[in-house]
Amino acid sequence: MDSLVASALETVRRRITRAARAAGRDPSDITLTAVSKQQPEAAVQAALDTGQRIFGENRVQEAQGRWAERRAVLPDLHLRLIGPLQSNKADQALALFDVIETLDREKLARALAEAGLKAGMRPRVLIQINTGEEPQKAGVIPAGADAFIARVRSDYDLDLQGLMCIPPLQEEPAMHFALLSRIAARNGLGVLSMGMSGDYETAVRFGATHVRVGSGLFGARPAP
Ligand SMILES: *Cc1c(COP(=O)(O)O)cnc(C)c1O
Repeated sequence: MDSLVASALETVRRRITRAARAAGRDPSDITLTAVSKQQPEAAVQAALDTGQRIFGENRVQEAQGRWAERRAVLPDLHLRLIGPLQSNKADQALALFDVIETLDREKLARALAEAGLKAGMRPRVLIQINTGEEPQKAGVIPAGADAFIARVRSDYDLDLQGLMCIPPLQEEPAMHFALLSRIAARNGLGVLSMGMSGDYETAVRFGATHVRVGSGLFGARPAP
């Protein structure tokens, strides 16, 4: 297990570097988020043992079980919430995660800003854009993105860093990455979280600053 995860990490890092250079980008501008959701403990520990410190989780509760104690002993651990967040869990989410990637509605913006005020910090957030306008998927639709970004900036004390998207499974991801990149550029946002195991190199080509890779590092997750 250890050596499998270690070599997968090395491979993914090498491919990110190669994709970045091919696109004329500096590889150090791209951050690999290891998506540990639903993965076995041994695999996650193996990644930690190689020095990987940036992890993504999609559920607050599951992440608490896995990371709350490690947080205390790993000062450089960096956790990113990449799944939907209920506004009544804003406090818990802020206590554990360094960045919330899935801000997608005003009620949540308000809850996060209030939680930040209580905790004496300014929550770092990305706005999730539903680039494919899929009804079952969270995120702001592209036509509403500029207005939502402006509203978050003017009304809430949040550190808005950028955007994230999850393209539709059956579609060519490139057009979705290009769309996210355009929305970010015209709004002056620098962080682009896009690209997963199957398409992170494409995402790098379209300007991703953060790629989220799970099964490509740890193997397939158990079926739900
Ligand atoms: C699960 C998940 C990933 C990782 O997906 P893989 O295909 O396993 O790399 C990335 N982003 C989000 C939002 C996810 O929920």
